[in-house]
Parts: sequence; structure tokens; C-alpha cells
Amino acid sequence: MALVKKVLVVGGGIGGMCAAIQLRKQGVDVVLVEQNPQWAPDGAGITISGPTLRALRTVGVVDEVIRRGGQWTHIDLCAADGSVMVTLPMERTTTAEELPPAGGIMRPVLAEILANATRASGTTVRLGLSFESMVQDGDGVDVVFNDGSRDRYDLVVGADGVLSKVRAVILPEFAGPRFTGQGSWRAVVPRTRQNSSIYMGKTTKAGLNPVSATESYLFVLDRREGLEFIAPDQWPHLLAELISEFGGSIAEIRDGLLNGTLRHDRIVYRPLAGHLIDAPWHRGRIVLLGDAVHATTPHLASGAGMAIEGAVVLAEELGRRHFLEGALMAYAGRHYDRARLVVSASARMGEIEQTGGSQDEHRQVMLHAMHALRAPI
Ligand SMILES: Cc1cc2nc3c(=O)[nH]c(=O)nc-3n(C[C@H](O)[C@H](O)[C@H](O)COP(=O)(O)OP(=O)(O)OC[C@H]3O[C@@H](n4cnc5c(N)ncnc54)[C@H](O)[C@@H]3O)c2cc1C
Repeated sequence: MALVKKVLVVGGGIGGMCAAIQLRKQGVDVVLVEQNPQWAPDGAGITISGPTLRALRTVGVVDEVIRRGGQWTHIDLCAADGSVMVTLPMERTTTAEELPPAGGIMRPVLAEILANATRASGTTVRLGLSFESMVQDGDGVDVVFNDGSRDRYDLVVGADGVLSKVRAVILPEFAGPRFTGQGSWRAVVPRTRQNSSIYMGKTTKAGLNPVSATESYLFVLDRREGLEFIAPDQWPHLLAELISEFGGSIAEIRDGLLNGTLRHDRIVYRPLAGHLIDAPWHRGRIVLLGDAVHATTPHLASGAGMAIEGAVVLAEELGRRHFLEGALMAYAGRHYDRARLVVSASARMGEIEQTGGSQDEHRQVMLHAMHALRAPI
């Protein structure tokens, strides 16, 4: 007998959509609520690592992600002046050797692909909606939504991101994510390089990853004092200043920012925060997924991958166990180690960047984690 028949997923981000799709494959009745009426993420690029592509293959959308995104097989590690120090071949992912070793895509394109798959799965999608309260007993969770409607579910999946409101229901003592000391800048630019490329500056790191056949996204991480608000009209000028130490393709982008040939509305700034909550990740019939329990800085470009893998593992465990408690324990037990690797290795890379530490150690931490993540989930 199925452990759960009716599930509420709170949050229609990458993790929530994948959870809904995977649960629908088991015939579970799924309702997904998303507070954003437009159901659209910011217009930045996102890197889809080999393991993430493998997880998207399980979800059933990898062909479209590859068709509409960009891929690469090598990373150029460059000095600040743009000269290539070393070109590293990317390892293909275990049990997914037929897939490209890495790729990228625009976030709105990935969101559209997953949203179409979510609707096609038969999930009931309710946009512009959050919840007011959630009260559980041994048999179910009573949820009151903020439009006044209410319903009862066998399980609630809190996939509502780094500032999760579901988390506040089951872990009210959690202090919240920590600012990591860095800010992230991203901009969509013409694709001028075949490979992914990373440029190491003194305390600023920049890189270019393809997101389609014709476009790449520039990512820049810089040291920041705190979570200060930066007005968007300052972003182009500040970003141009930040990348002034870099040569090569990045210098051309700087020129484009300053002379206005690069579109300023395609720049996004965000201070970085992270956290990893100790397992288990559920209390009773409410379970957390993705950034709600393990939010990482983007150094390994694997946070979304962890949310997708978490969704796959959660659905698998719900589908094959005999008791809900066992399934939810097994979900966190199987997924914790990989999420921890991503969060801790990314945090270490960020520390090295902020302190101008050893670039050799930085490279080793990155390569070790990327290699380990190739293992089957
Ligand atoms: C700067 C930056 C760059 C990154 N780059 C990469 C990368 O290249 N590759 C990668 O794999 N990962 C990357 N990540 C990480 C990745 O973006 C996240 O790990 C991923 O989006 C987490 O997905 P999620 O579904 O858990 O949460 P989210 O994507 O945050 O989705 C949560 C959803 O829940 C909704 N929501 C929130 N509260 C409520 C509520 N109360 N009720 C209803 N809905 C609600 C939100 O509107 C949102 O749609 C990056 C992160 C950052 C900050």
C-alpha cells in the first residue's frame, strides 16, 4: 500500500517541481503551491553539472535541457590577465556516460521546461499562493492557505527555498542562513568561448559558462562586508569596476558594460548565504527539501543539482519503504552526505578566495568534490 496518497509541495522552484513530477509517477495526488504568481526565477544563467544532468535524466527532461542549453567538455583555468594556465578535461558522470560532462542553461528556460513537465505530470498547480498555518497529527497535516482555503494532506514537502516558511513551522529554533562574506554577480553575454573558463583574481573570481549555442553567463564572486542592499542602477558600473583586474574575454565584457553594448537588464547581484541543517529533515509528516535544508554558495554550481537529487531520493524512498518514518529517515540518510560535501567544499573555496589563499588547494577542493559527486546517488 502506498505510504502517501496526497502530498502538498510548498514552493515551485527546481526542487519542488522535481518532487512533484517524481511523486506523480507513483500515482500520488500532488498539489504544488507557489507564492510567485508569475512562477518565474531571475533571468540569470545556471550551470548544470554532469551529476545534475543525470538527475534531470531521471526526472525525464534532460533531452530538452541539452537541446535548449549549452554544454562543454573542458574547463580553462586562467590567470587574471586571461592567459590559460591549464585546461582540464571534465570527467563524465558514472552511470551517465552518454550525457555531456557539464552544461548550462538560462534559469527561466529550465523553469519553463520543469513547469511544463510538472503540469503534464498531472500535478495541481496553484500560483500566487502560500499557507497561513500547518498543524499535524499522527495521520495527516491540516493546512490553511492564505486565500482562506484549507485541505488535509498525508505529507507536506517544504521546498520553499533558503528562507523557508515551512522550516519555521517544524524547526522554529533555527537561526537562519549565514552570510558567507561574498556577493555573486551574474550577467548574460555573447558566447565567445567553447569551454567553461575560470579567472582567479586577488580576492575576486570570475568565470564564463555557456548557456546556449550563442550565449554564456558571466559569474563574478567578490568579497563583501555584509548583506548591504545595492540599487540595481549601480550594478553595471560596479560590475565593470569589479572585473577591471581581468584581461581576455572578461575585458571585452567590461568594455561592453561601460559603452552600453551589453544589456544592463541582464545583470543580477545577490549576496551569498548558506546553511546545512543536521538530519533528519522531517518532523512527523512535514519534510524539507533543497535550499530549505542545504543552501550552498555557488562555487561548485551544484545547489540546484542537490535539490533535484533530493527530490529523486525522497520519491524513491517513499515509493519503496513500508513506514513513513523509515522513508523520511532514509531520504535524509542517503542524501545528507552529498549535500554536505557540496555545502562544505563550496564554503572552503569561498574562504580561500576571500583570504587570497592557496590556488592549488582551491583547485584540489573543487576537483575532489566534482570527482566524488560523479558517484551514483
Ligand atoms: C548566486 C547563485 C548562483 C547559483 N548557481 C547555481 C548553479 O550554477 N548551479 C546549481 O546547481 N545551483 C546554483 N545555485 C543554487 C540553486 O539556485 C539553488 O540551490 C536552487 O535554486 C534551490 O532550489 P529550491 O527549489 O530548493 O529553492 P528555490 O529555487 O529557492 O525555490 C523555492 C521556491 O519556493 C517559492 N516559495 C518561497 N516561499 C514560499 C511560500 N511560503 N509559499 C509558496 N511558495 C514559496 C519561491 O518563490 C521559489 O519559487 C546558485 C545559487 C546562487 C545564490
